[in-house]
Parts: sequence; C-alpha cells; structure tokens
Amino acid sequence: MIKTDILIIGAGPTGLFTVFEAGLLKLKCHLIDALPQPGGQCSEIYPKKPIYDIPGFPEILAGDLTKNLLEQGKQFEPGFTLGERAETIEKQEDGSFIVTTNKGTQHHAPVVAIAGGLGSFEPRKPAIEGITDYEDKGVEYIIKDPEFYRDKKVVISGGGDSALDWSIFLTDVASEVTLIHRRNEFRGALDSVEKVRELTLLNKIKLITPAEVKELHGDGKIEAVSVAKDGETIKIETDHFIPLFGLSPKLGPIANWGLDIEKNAIKVDNSLNYQTNIPGIFAIGDVNTYPEKLKLILCGFHEATLMCQAAYRIINPGKKYVLKYTTVSGIDGFDGTRKEAPKAVVQSI
Ligand SMILES: Cc1cc2nc3c(=O)[nH]c(=O)nc-3n(C[C@H](O)[C@H](O)[C@H](O)COP(=O)(O)OP(=O)(O)OC[C@H]3O[C@@H](n4cnc5c(N)ncnc54)[C@H](O)[C@@H]3O)c2cc1C
Repeated sequence: MIKTDILIIGAGPTGLFTVFEAGLLKLKCHLIDALPQPGGQCSEIYPKKPIYDIPGFPEILAGDLTKNLLEQGKQFEPGFTLGERAETIEKQEDGSFIVTTNKGTQHHAPVVAIAGGLGSFEPRKPAIEGITDYEDKGVEYIIKDPEFYRDKKVVISGGGDSALDWSIFLTDVASEVTLIHRRNEFRGALDSVEKVRELTLLNKIKLITPAEVKELHGDGKIEAVSVAKDGETIKIETDHFIPLFGLSPKLGPIANWGLDIEKNAIKVDNSLNYQTNIPGIFAIGDVNTYPEKLKLILCGFHEATLMCQAAYRIINPGKKYVLKYTTVSGIDGFDGTRKEAPKAVVQSI
C-alpha cells in the first residue's frame, strides 16, 4: 500500500505543479498516470509545440515545460505510479481514501486530487480479429521501455509521430524494424519522415506502404503478421506487433465514482477550493467544470494552488497556515536541500 498526503490522479501540468504547491505546505504527493511518462497532453500530444501563454515564459516547448515542472517538484520527492489507470476508490471510516489501479496497485491518502485532464488516454486499437488475445503476448499499443525490444523483431504500424519516432529509435535496439502504414504519406514531423526514408535506404527499416496488417498469427504469442499490399498478402515473421494509432481520452472509471459530472467533466465549487460533491476529493485542471471555466494550463496551476490550501486544512485540522513568499521563507525540500535568497537581498525587500 502506497501512503501519501495528497494522491494526485493525472501527471499532466496541473498534477505536476500540485507537487510543488503541496511541498511548500509540507504535504507529500504521489501521482498515478495511465501513460508511461508524466506531462499529460503536453508530452503525449504536442511536446515539440511552443506554448506562448505560460506566465513568465514568452515561449516554451510543451516538452520543456514538463521537464521544468518535474525539476521544480523534484525536491519534494513525489512518488509515481505510471502506466496504470486509477480504477476504483473506496472511502474509509476515517474519511481517507484507497484508490486501486487496473494493475491492482493500492494507494491510501486523506485527500485525492483528480487532475485527469480529458481523461485517461486509451490506445486506439486497429480492427484486427483476435487482437485482444495477443495483448501483452506480443501486441503492445504503448512502448513503455524500449529495452523490452532488445534484439527482437518488431512490426510497427501507424503514420504519425509516434510510429515514426519509435521506428527510428528502435533501429538501434531491435534486430529488425518493419514500419507499415496504409498511406504513402505520413502525418509526422518532416525531419522524422526524412529520417525514416534515409534508414529505409540503409536497410535499417523495412518500410511497407500503402499496406495494412490484416491478420495475426502465433500459438499463445505473436509469431507473424499478414499484411495486405497491392491486392496481395505478405506474411512477416515478428516477435512484436505495435500498432501506434494514437490515444483517445476517456473520463473512464472516474465517471463511476459518484462524482457530479457535467459534459464529461467533474463539477466543482470554484468559489471555494475546487472540491467535488465528495468531501476530500478535489478536481483541478482540464477535468473540472464550473461557470466560465477555461481549459488552460495557467488556470490548472491556479486551481492546484488553492486546492492545496484546502488539503492542508483537512490534513492539519485546527492548524493555522500563514502564507509566506518563497523569496522570504526559502524552500526546504524533503530531500534535505534548502533554497533561499541571500540575506542581503531579503533585507533590502
Ligand atoms: C495541441 C494542443 C495545444 C495546446 N496549447 C495550449 C496552449 O498554448 N496553452 C495552454 O494553456 N493550453 C494549451 N493546451 C491545453 C493544455 O494542454 C491543457 O489545458 C493541459 O494539458 C491540462 O492539464 P491537466 O494536467 O489538467 O490535464 P492533462 O494534460 O490532460 O493530463 C491529465 C493526465 O491524467 C491522466 N489520467 C486521466 N484519468 C486517469 C486515470 N483514471 N488514471 C490514471 N491517469 C489518468 C491522463 O493520462 C493524463 O496524462 C493545448 C492542448 C492541445 C491538445
């Protein structure tokens, strides 16, 4: 059982910034995310796109924002359960919660902050008969650890950045990389498309277009795929088939937690602290709704900050918190580090 002060569901920008704000209040956080990496939409959908409306950053790549948020929260030693979806929640007699993931990992906390964005990202699966029988037996929809494919034959299908980038990356890891796409044109970044073509000429990637995987073969695990191309069928031996057709967000299991839901979002009290209809459960960032809600990163940061104050009062009943500027109080990390402005500077303030 993982124990923490604030259990955050969703490691997007809102969840990551919560770690920092909670840390200032000496509250420890643990984050659960269905994706294998933190960053939410910023790292999954648009890591290379510049964002222009983060206060203090005239321009920052979404991937760099994620890196900075992780760096900012690092001193407060957050825990992570990645690649697992929060599935069920049970309220305990003392008002605390146990949240269990689809892989059975249990988390216990007095406060739960749902920062689930548009919901947990579920892979889009191709319509191939019997594909679910091969899941985790050679069929994977998300690459969690590229080392898993060391010296293995892999067939990737898809035409976006994920399919292109992983095909390129795996040429240094797998023994054989085949990329299959139903069109001749790709939707990914131009330099990735060029790199794939270059590696194809060097025989490091076997590129088959326009083509589609139609059938899977194997006894208990994937051994080959059948590919339809130009009216013919080609059989390719492989250890893994990885369809990378993107991810679609779904509010998913959270929708069944007894929370007030409106248009696929969780209703909260924004005049107070973003609490849901269940005391102790908060919803912050893109996942919540209230009058005049804006789905923007900076709004998620603001909501996270106010939510942490409410969490402090639940966890430390009767204790008064006096807001202090970080410039004045400095920051004491849970890892023993201390950041503080030089005395002379503080005195002149
Ligand atoms: C192309 C694009 C461009 C954008 N540009 C801007 C911009 O310029 N400026 C701006 O302010 N905003 C922009 N946005 C919006 C911005 O990305 C979102 O407002 C922001 O990501 C919301 O952050 P979040 O942490 O609330 O949610 P998300 O980033 O959606 O993260 C939520 C996380 O929760 C996880 N999750 C959900 N349910 C579960 C569950 N049950 N179990 C485990 N994990 C779960 C998901 O996997 C996800 O990782 C853009 C969005 C897109 C798509």
